[in-house]
Amino acid sequence: MSDLARLGEARPGEAGLGDKGFGGMGFGDMGFGETIATRLTELAAVSDEAGRLTRLYLGPAHRKAADLVASWMREAGMSARIDAVGNVVGRYRARDSGPLTLMLGSHIDTVRNAGRFDGALGVVIAIEVVKAAFKSGKRFPFAIEVVAFGDEEGVRFASTLGGARALAGTFDLKALDEVGEDGVSRRQALVAFGCDPSRLSEEALSPDRVIGYVEAHIEQGPVLEKDDLPVGVVSAIDGITRGIVEVDGVAGHAGTVPMPMRSDALAAAAEMLIAIENRARSRPNLVATAGKIDVPGGTANTIPGLVRFTLDIRSPSDAERLKAVSDISETIAAIARSRGVTARFSVGHEVPAAHCDDGLSDQLAQAAETCGVTPRRLPSGAGHDAMAFDRIIPFAMLFVRCRGGVSHNPAEFASPGDIDVAACALSTFLDRIA
Ligand SMILES: [Zn+2]
Repeated sequence: MSDLARLGEARPGEAGLGDKGFGGMGFGDMGFGETIATRLTELAAVSDEAGRLTRLYLGPAHRKAADLVASWMREAGMSARIDAVGNVVGRYRARDSGPLTLMLGSHIDTVRNAGRFDGALGVVIAIEVVKAAFKSGKRFPFAIEVVAFGDEEGVRFASTLGGARALAGTFDLKALDEVGEDGVSRRQALVAFGCDPSRLSEEALSPDRVIGYVEAHIEQGPVLEKDDLPVGVVSAIDGITRGIVEVDGVAGHAGTVPMPMRSDALAAAAEMLIAIENRARSRPNLVATAGKIDVPGGTANTIPGLVRFTLDIRSPSDAERLKAVSDISETIAAIARSRGVTARFSVGHEVPAAHCDDGLSDQLAQAAETCGVTPRRLPSGAGHDAMAFDRIIPFAMLFVRCRGGVSHNPAEFASPGDIDVAACALSTFLDRIA
């Protein structure tokens, strides 16, 4: 409840549209920010766990949230349905019976003990922007579909982005047999949710009928806050290389083996970690993380003989990432040689970068400028539903500043003032492309 109180709190530099002189647009007066913040609070109360927000894909809270979101869509002048993969799809019909559709949205599933903005923000902004058009009797020369995706966080099943992939036509039907921790398969969970998994392939969109997909989302990082900007336009979603480095040394007695005679796997790994960090720091948008390190069988009085650590390398440029992977592999080998150990980086998982469409992104940036903000372009280090549409339909993303860059945490926060700017930008974007 203290979070609820915090939502209304203004911080220095977080002024609403009116305070920044955008009153002439009328959006400040329409109170997008406060309305959206209130709805996010309402949605955050729909949880699988008492006292904290956990809304797993196809769980009971997801079902309730889907109904709530569908009711908001209908109130905003849309027809609403739950599709075969559990997405809530709201449709605001076009002015004429033209064939084109613009998709907006984000996701309503969450991690465990989540914040209220990740995903939900993009869904609620889209609904409110359509509602404003509906209330003023405005139609566009294209239909708008607002999609509340259901499987973005990948908490319940092994694969993820099932909702967006079904629309993209790239859903792998084998994923229906994935079984979660509770012993329930994806197929069973879909049926329990009220979906018909046998109709899943019918949800695939026709790329020639879709203008594109535009998603607003909290940044989940600290860059916009550092630059004192309420919104930013995403350039690309980072590609990822993930794997495991295994360092083999020689275990020995901590007291009896003199320092020059050791092959200490952990000390070698430590040198590798610093070298990896330095390599990532040498380029602006390259990041590398060793998030987990194990010393199997390690004890206080044993020289470590074996170390394994995970490695996650990301960049919006695939060439840059692959070069970094190659350099890091060479560095690991060189450090291993110099220390008398052996080491190997085994790549387990690779995803190419997904590039936002220049045309849609420029329109989004110009729309934000109309709302009084010159947004910066920035890559997304986190994955999003939008990446499922890479090379299928054009897509663009608008990031909203979040306090301290904190996400996947109940302390996650975006101010009503910043949300107002994002809603203004999205609404102006619709007018521009119309
Ligand atoms: Zn998200």
